[in-house]
Amino acid sequence: MDLYEHQARELFADYGVLVPDADVADTAKEARAIAERLGGKVVVKAQVKTGGRGKAGGVKLAADAAAAEITARQILGMDIKGHTVHKVMLAQPVDIESEFYVSYVLDRAAGQFLAIASAEGGMDIEEVAATRPEAVARIHIDPAVGVTADKAAEIAAAAKLPPESADILVRLWTVLTQEDAVLVEVNPLVRTANGRLMAIDGKVTLDDNARFRQARWGDAESAHDDPLEAKAAAKGLNYVKLEGQVGVIGNGAGLVMSTLDVVAGCGAKPANFLDIGGGASAQVMADGLSVILSDPEVKSVFVNVFGGITACDAVADGIVQALGEVNLTKPLVVRLDGNNAAQGRAILDAHAHPLVEQQPTMDGAAQRAADLAAAK
Ligand code: GDP
Ligand code: MN
Repeated sequence: MDLYEHQARELFADYGVLVPDADVADTAKEARAIAERLGGKVVVKAQVKTGGRGKAGGVKLAADAAAAEITARQILGMDIKGHTVHKVMLAQPVDIESEFYVSYVLDRAAGQFLAIASAEGGMDIEEVAATRPEAVARIHIDPAVGVTADKAAEIAAAAKLPPESADILVRLWTVLTQEDAVLVEVNPLVRTANGRLMAIDGKVTLDDNARFRQARWGDAESAHDDPLEAKAAAKGLNYVKLEGQVGVIGNGAGLVMSTLDVVAGCGAKPANFLDIGGGASAQVMADGLSVILSDPEVKSVFVNVFGGITACDAVADGIVQALGEVNLTKPLVVRLDGNNAAQGRAILDAHAHPLVEQQPTMDGAAQRAADLAAAK
């Protein structure tokens, strides 16, 4: 689960990392009251779980409480990369002398954590990394050892951060381990005009597998900010919303993952990950279809089933029954293969739904679904 900036800020403060005074509002009036409390002049910041808010106009300085109200009204409701702004954070403005970048990220391939740090922080770290990789230090951290004072000094030196930042690097590592995070990012970490180091923006991703021992952020619901993911979770589906146009349903996580790749290989973008698992009952198929069809981005749906223990005729029965429960509004491409494929295909042929077509191969079906999505 990704935390909002204001939640990350709260964590940083708890672990002794200096952060600006701030509070959160969901109305412009409330924003004004908070600005008054903070001394009038504030930075108004959209609370959405995506980066680049500054460039999108979601981070603005307001000269006084009245201006904060107007700015908050502009930012609330704004769409930033597909995320609607429901809350703004009002923060005391900081007089910035320089901006740095620091993060810890899980490097699964290396079986270690990776510290990424740069003295050239701010809004364009991706660009710095692409054009001047030498300005970005990357240092692996053995998870069994962690970020000791020495390691922190090594990271700070490699990234040309001020030596005092070593203390913050240790504290941020403590945030990561104590809170079971897989990502802690501060961009920017700033040096203020009066020489203090402060975290101005934070991104923290918690490990969902550790939720049971991290009561702080509430129950499972809060993990699903996306309404479709929340709907799918309520139905017990393994669904992850993505940003494409081809809805994907498959049986088995491995098959669904490769289906996403094949759809992408056909020049389309998958709209979601949905694994209906081994049983593939009619109910699960109907629930899955209903979630996918209610995604306005979806232009076509690809059902990719390889019958193993689950026989294709049972899956075909499930699809037919689901079509009776769900109003199919978008073309559905089905590929059935494996156990009882011929029987399954015959069931779908007999049903002859005008929006349902079958393709014999995974590649062919993916291409067809991609073409149908592109034609819309
Ligand atoms: P992001 O665009 O989503 O990464 O949002 P940030 O919180 O990082 O803000 C973007 C940029 O706004 C920062 O890199 C700073 O340059 C600037 N900014 C944010 N807060 C302040 C502040 O209190 N004072 C000043 N001078 N600049 C700020
Ligand atoms: Mn930032």
